[in-house]
Amino acid sequence: MKQIKKSIVAVMSSLVWFGSLALVLGASASASAREYVFTPEKTDEMRALLGGGCLKPGDRVVMKDGVYNLGDLDFFAEGTRSDSISLCAENPGKAVVSGPLRFRIYGTYLKVDGLFFNKAWASGFSMIEFRKDKGENATHCRLSNCVIDDCNDPDKSEAPAPKGQMPMSVAEYWVGLYGSNHRVDHCYFANKRIGGLVIQLWLDEDSHINNHQIDHNLFGFRKPYGGNGAEIIRVGHSWSSQLESHAIIENNVFLHCDGENEIISVKSCNNVLRRNLFFESRGALVCRHGHYNVVEGNTFVGNDIKGTCGVRIINQGHTVYDNLMCRLQGWGLLVRVGIHDRPTPDTDLEKEPLTTFHRAENVDIAYNHFIDCRAMEFGSGKGEKMPRNVRFAYNNIFGPQSNISLFRPDETLPGFYFLGNSYGFTDKGTIELEGFHPAQPTVDYAAIERERVLSSLSGTGAAWYGPNIRDLSYIQSKYMEL
Ligand code: CA
Repeated sequence: MKQIKKSIVAVMSSLVWFGSLALVLGASASASAREYVFTPEKTDEMRALLGGGCLKPGDRVVMKDGVYNLGDLDFFAEGTRSDSISLCAENPGKAVVSGPLRFRIYGTYLKVDGLFFNKAWASGFSMIEFRKDKGENATHCRLSNCVIDDCNDPDKSEAPAPKGQMPMSVAEYWVGLYGSNHRVDHCYFANKRIGGLVIQLWLDEDSHINNHQIDHNLFGFRKPYGGNGAEIIRVGHSWSSQLESHAIIENNVFLHCDGENEIISVKSCNNVLRRNLFFESRGALVCRHGHYNVVEGNTFVGNDIKGTCGVRIINQGHTVYDNLMCRLQGWGLLVRVGIHDRPTPDTDLEKEPLTTFHRAENVDIAYNHFIDCRAMEFGSGKGEKMPRNVRFAYNNIFGPQSNISLFRPDETLPGFYFLGNSYGFTDKGTIELEGFHPAQPTVDYAAIERERVLSSLSGTGAAWYGPNIRDLSYIQSKYMEL
């Protein structure tokens, strides 16, 4: 990066002598932008250009059709808001990246577009990462219209970690977001079999507010891993969980994401997760650590498949609003008890580690719809920190399979405030709660589900990729008879 800055300084100082010319050049930066075209035979030259710091705002590096073994690839450059620098496939999907890969994206306003990562794998910790090195992070970069499918290190065991062994030891991360203001959009991800995240958002202690946006992606099949560490997206990490993150995860589709019981694991504060579709995926959206997250307008369709779940809540200040849960065989909602209270600056983290479960408190769960979900769990799990000030209001719970389970009611009930909830099922007799009244649905939930699901499909993922089209058609086919 130093090299780039130096050359910019050199250019700027030479332009001082030609002040009027500099203005003209500045106004037409993109007009002077260049396009560089490479074939797989010219990989070394492409690598030298991308990592050499000579690319200018507006430049495009185009990969022609073929299979590329890139090894270590650095895309280091400084684009601008109006003129990003892009690395793209001449024909989306026809430039295939395979083999061991460590792809580092570092700089500003860089875009990777239309690449097909197939039978590639991470030669280091992550296959693609948005940084140069520790503390040297990218900003405003974008991974768009790409596919990562079946990228698993052939030398790593696909079996789950032996009991007692950290599953991280066989982890391989696909995309590691560092820095801020990145966007991952219109991509397709599927067939990750080794442990590790599909997308991990890493929060730096001193620059943790990231504003990343993950939208309109299709996350396809991930087979059951058999243990922890096979989430699709994780936002933060235990050690960074008390920091503000401000990521937005919206309008994505998760189909058959069966890696483990957490599909999205939120481990930081102030994130927004909205309008995502979780379809026949055996896991949940989990607010695992951190506070003040908004979970809004998501749709979960389980079709009575074992392990399909909705939203799990612990910690403080979350808003869970207008989500639709349909036929979840696990639970639609779970509010867990805590083991410790939220840490303060005085907390001894040796005794109360950040990996613990913190008390659910000041949570607002309202206007959600639970349609024929097998369970709602209030106060389950181990621990003595009972939920406090959890408002569950104006929710609708219908369908013959529905059930509400209140665990240790004498202890947990005072922490919940139930208000104006409608239910239409035969209570299994476990509870008779204030704040619930029997009712009939006032809207056509089948039509609402159909409308929500079908609108989630339009324009999602990488439109050029066959399995992407097939997956969307699969979901669509479930609503054809209506
Ligand atoms: Ca997990």
